[in-house]
Amino acid sequence: MKGKVLPFTKEQIEKITEKHPTPFHIYDEKGIIEYAKRFNAAFSWNKGFKEFYAIKSAPNPFLMKILRAQGFGIDASSLAELELAGRVGMRGEEIMFTSNDTPAHEYVKARELGATINLDDISHIEYLEKHAGLPELISLRYNPGALKDGNVIIGNPEDSKYGFTREQLFEGYKMLKKKGVKRFGIHTMVASNELDSDYFIETAEILFDVIVEISKEVGIRFEFANLGGGIGIPYKNEHKPVDIEKVSAGIKDLYEKLIVANQLDPLKIFFESGRVITGPYGFLVSKVLHIKETYKKYAGLDSCMANLMRPALYGAYHHITVLGKENEPCSNLYDVTGSLCENNDKFAINRLLPKIEQGDIVVIHDTGAHGHAMGFNYNGKLRSAELLLRENGEVVEIRRAETMDDYFATLDFGKLKDF
Ligand SMILES: *Cc1c(COP(=O)(O)O)cnc(C)c1O
Repeated sequence: MKGKVLPFTKEQIEKITEKHPTPFHIYDEKGIIEYAKRFNAAFSWNKGFKEFYAIKSAPNPFLMKILRAQGFGIDASSLAELELAGRVGMRGEEIMFTSNDTPAHEYVKARELGATINLDDISHIEYLEKHAGLPELISLRYNPGALKDGNVIIGNPEDSKYGFTREQLFEGYKMLKKKGVKRFGIHTMVASNELDSDYFIETAEILFDVIVEISKEVGIRFEFANLGGGIGIPYKNEHKPVDIEKVSAGIKDLYEKLIVANQLDPLKIFFESGRVITGPYGFLVSKVLHIKETYKKYAGLDSCMANLMRPALYGAYHHITVLGKENEPCSNLYDVTGSLCENNDKFAINRLLPKIEQGDIVVIHDTGAHGHAMGFNYNGKLRSAELLLRENGEVVEIRRAETMDDYFATLDFGKLKDF
């Protein structure tokens, strides 16, 4: 089957499995760096352009270091994600803090690091002021409501829990100005895994329009427009990737028409994409433990939804390659399963694949974002290692696999005898 290509050969993977037992996620450094460069180049017309990698997609400090070297910042949304950014040495406006339903201690941490804070709700202006003090720079998250159609994963903006209404946005900036805040940003994110390039251009237009109006009415100057994440990736062979150069060109046109024409230039364009940056460059590598034939045919892997839960969670499609059988006919119908005691623990349902045998190595594509990160321990399943295939062909373990000791670390068996 043509289409999806792997950055490694069967022989390479067999060699890797001698040292690193399956299952594991492996990331392709070259692919990540090439895409990061392309993303930056596409927006090089915008002075101050910056992508803040949404660290929830793959919270690994090694990947962060690679992306930081390309000029990327980090988008964090929790205490642990802020801490991670801090531990990699990130400070100040390299960190975007976009959270919701935020506890006070997270604002305190964000302030300590000097992160740019992006508020999700008007009530958080006073909450932040009370608990952590108002910084000089603040961004507000806009929910355009009925102005924008929704998309499948994130849903309709009107049903979404995120952001300020249009009215609240005006009120919010007025409040901030009155309270002495000096620098302003604005954010919106109304898509997830969206493959339509025009969607991002339309979103920019909504944001630029509101920037023009607020700048006039409130009398403030915006430093940046953060377009959020949500750029989709071609999980299926027939999907077309988002044409990032086209997105950029569309945004540039609007920038001239709305921002430059209204003397609101310069305005920095930010993104906080996760999926598109690392998603296509990660792979879950597993071995086939069992073939089972009952009413259907099952290929049971040594990984499970604890390693990748998107198929079980959203019915998401992940392409599967049986290593060494790329050119064999896909004439066998399988459910590809894990071992969790949940019948939805399936990586694929009714998937046509080459004939699979015990011991075959199966590669699940596009697990570089929202893959390992979503893992969990239900059923006592342990999360796998993460490996990095370096540009020079070397393989580095960038996170070890969890052990039984990790699993039991929160229990004190000593207390049992007096219980
Ligand atoms: C999840 C998330 C992102 C990243 O989304 P992708 O679909 O991975 O690009 C960015 N910003 C916020 C606020 C998010 O919640």
